[in-house]
Amino acid sequence: MIDRIMLTTADPEDPGEIELEVGLRPKDFDSYIGQRRLKQNLRLAIAAAKKRSDPLDHILLYGPPGLGKTTMASVIANEMGAQIRITSGPAIERAGDLASLLTNLQDGDILFIDEIHRLHRVIEEVLYSAMEDFKLDIMLGKGPSARSLRLDLPKFTIIGATTRTGALAAPLRDRFGMIHRLEFYTASEIEQIIIRSAKILGVGIDKKAASILAQRARLTPRVANRLLKRVRDYADVNGDGIIDVELSSKALDLLEIDELGLDVSDRLLLSAVIDNYGGGPVGVETIAALMAEERTTIEDFIEPYLLQLGLLERTPRGRKATHKAYLHLGKKPAIPTTEHNTLL
Ligand code: ADP
Repeated sequence: MIDRIMLTTADPEDPGEIELEVGLRPKDFDSYIGQRRLKQNLRLAIAAAKKRSDPLDHILLYGPPGLGKTTMASVIANEMGAQIRITSGPAIERAGDLASLLTNLQDGDILFIDEIHRLHRVIEEVLYSAMEDFKLDIMLGKGPSARSLRLDLPKFTIIGATTRTGALAAPLRDRFGMIHRLEFYTASEIEQIIIRSAKILGVGIDKKAASILAQRARLTPRVANRLLKRVRDYADVNGDGIIDVELSSKALDLLEIDELGLDVSDRLLLSAVIDNYGGGPVGVETIAALMAEERTTIEDFIEPYLLQLGLLERTPRGRKATHKAYLHLGKKPAIPTTEHNTLL
């Protein structure tokens, strides 16, 4: 199993974590750090919708977990002065669940559907006419006596979030007026997030220590907040509660997070590709089997950051470790076979 620090979905089993996330969540565009282009586009769309007194177009946000999709949805609702209802693809089990969600909305409301790629196909189809015409088609009864009923819905906005747009059926994707990708943050944005969170949590941290944490937080706000919490625990027990460079370095070593922010699972993946497959290319299924992990865990949680850092490459024939990965792990890069040295 991959480590909790890296597991970048909020853990519903851990009330402390949920509380932390809710407490630290920025409420408006100004406190939402980074994602400058996304904010610019959304600000414009919101101003235009408000001017016309129209609901906002449906929005699809995609990108690796923990980058702030849910947070952005609530910022949008706040900036629109709208109510937000939050649900997720797997939570909507039957078409009836969706019907009751939709019929309980009011004009201007926002329905946030996390992991929208995990909606059942049948439910997805109900969503099409709801998104396009604000109509809900429901079937009453079964067999020859079945009839369909068309209900008017309020003018609402769907904000969908997904880690993978590729997994979304094209007709659903096409019904979103805006599709935006969330980018990894820069280390300096993550540092600002850490300093902001520390202030809210009432934790003392010096700037250098914040910068060390930022370097190792996978360029992801959720991981940054989690690291801050772990390091704070360490500082409470082993120091005077103030996080300085020495304490944060020691705490990070204890968590086995290296200077690039890689943890045990990342290094295991790279070593598996290098040691067992000469650096690749190797299929993701094979990597998953070697690591005893689900393919989706590899694709959603581990790979995006390794690709972002340029340690791993995605090729049509599979994943390849890069020269940088060899250097980082202190392994000797394989000498590429060129025409010249095959002739020798
Ligand atoms: P996602 O929905 O993409 O998985 P979340 O929106 O749940 O990610 O974000 C995870 C946590 O990271 C939030 O609780 C929030 O505290 C923090 N966070 C996310 N984006 C930002 C940001 N831009 N600025 C400050 N904190 C952020």
